Order: sequence, then C-alpha cells, then structure tokens
Amino acid sequence: MKFLYRFIAVLLVFLALTAYALLSEPSGIPVLNYHQINDKDENALTVSSSQFAAQMDYLKKEGYHTITADELADALEKGTALPEKPVLITFDDGYVDNYTVAYPILKERGMHGIIFLISDYVGRYPNYLTWPQIKEMQENNIEFGSHTLSHAVLTELQSEEEIENQLKNSKLAIEWHLGRPVNFLAYPCGYITDSIQSMVKNNGYRAAFTVDLGRTHTGDNMYELHRVPIFGGNTHTLFRFKARLRVPRLAAFLENCQNKLAKNGFVSIANLFPTI
Ligand SMILES: [Zn+2]
Repeated sequence: MKFLYRFIAVLLVFLALTAYALLSEPSGIPVLNYHQINDKDENALTVSSSQFAAQMDYLKKEGYHTITADELADALEKGTALPEKPVLITFDDGYVDNYTVAYPILKERGMHGIIFLISDYVGRYPNYLTWPQIKEMQENNIEFGSHTLSHAVLTELQSEEEIENQLKNSKLAIEWHLGRPVNFLAYPCGYITDSIQSMVKNNGYRAAFTVDLGRTHTGDNMYELHRVPIFGGNTHTLFRFKARLRVPRLAAFLENCQNKLAKNGFVSIANLFPTI
C-alpha cells in the first residue's frame, strides 16, 4: 500500500512537471553532445549507427538546421540571425568512428558538426582519429575544437601551469595541423571552476562547453555553455532523443531528482522516475 501511495505521488509530480516543462521551456538553441557512434561498443558513450541516422533524419524532417560553433557564438553574443530551428552537433574525444560512421551519415544529409579532439591521442591510438581523416572532414563541413591534450580533468590538476599547458598546447597543436583557428573547447567530463573559465578565455577561446543538460541562450556565460548529452548506451531510443531535444529542462530536473534520491538511499523511488 505504501508503495502504491509513493507511486501515485511520483506520478502526480511527473505529470505536473511535464505540463510545466511543455509550457515553460525557453526557446534557446540546443547543442547535442555525442561521443561514439558505432555498432560494436555497447558502452554508455555509444549510439548505434542506425539510431544516429534516425536522429539526423528526424532533425531534417522537423526542419532543424545544423549550424557551426561560430554561428552559435555570434548569435549568443551579438544576436546574429540564424536559420530556423538551429542546432549544433558536437562530438567529444575524437573517436575513429566519428570518421567511419558518423561523418558519412552527416555528409549524406549535408549536415555540420564539431569534434572536440584530445590532441595527443590523434593518430596515436587505434580508436582515435588520424590527422588525414580530420583534414578530409574539415573540407566537408566538420570543424574541430579542443578537448585538451590528454583528456585531463582540469579541476584535478595540481597547478595552473598544468591547466595552462592543456588549454594552450592542445589549441596550438590542432591549429598547426589544420591551419585554422581553434575557437572552442569542451571540458573533459565537464568539470570547471571560475578560474579555469578565465584561463580558457585568456587562452583565446571564444566559448567552452560543459556536459550539463540544457539549451544555450543569449546572455549565457560563454565559458559554461550547456549541451544535451545524447549518450547512455542502448537506452537512447528515438523517443528519448525527441524528449531531450524538446524538453531538456524536464530531463535535467528528472535526472537531478533521480540522482539525489539514489544518493540518499531511496533507490526504489528513484527507479520509479522515467529516464528521458
Ligand atoms: Zn571526453
């Protein structure tokens, strides 16, 4: 009986939140965040090729237009006009499947994207992109940003010199190889502090992205831009994709509630929350 009351309470809260989210979701520009796109690895960071293609088809069908990171920054900072229903597609880490699987899907549909590279891993490990692959993609609507030299969690580094090294030298390495400015950074694991944000700015980046779930809006802190993570392994159905794209605020709220309940020992109640 107690369980039933809990279930009804959770259900009522969920319905109220859904109504709230649908009515109050601010406009904002979604920045999707992917990692691996393949059919071999079934880890939390992987979206299957068919699911990724279905998601891209959905965006096209719904009239979304992929934009570049500079276009996003111009719009957020200066109010520059964007095409209808803009969306920025991002990939973190620079996995080789971004070239073998995601790139053909994007190219076929004339879509843009940005890949954040771990510059020391490029061409060094088999699971990561090579410079020739990156250069080919650069000629076909894919741009590149930094994800540091070695995927260092910046908040865990011992000195400012180490943080500076990660921010500065990854940018320089990618610029040297590609002959174009690197204006954007994605924080490894999304961990930041105010002083790290200042260092990112002082190193000449225009903006930086976290993994916090939400859309970007005019007036946002350019060094703490939210994204909509599209990972979670096989749980990423098209339904989940649509929900996260349309109501990221609700998805973030539910995720927060779940995490807090689970952390405080209320695992069974946390499990009652729908995952979107
Ligand atoms: Zn990463």
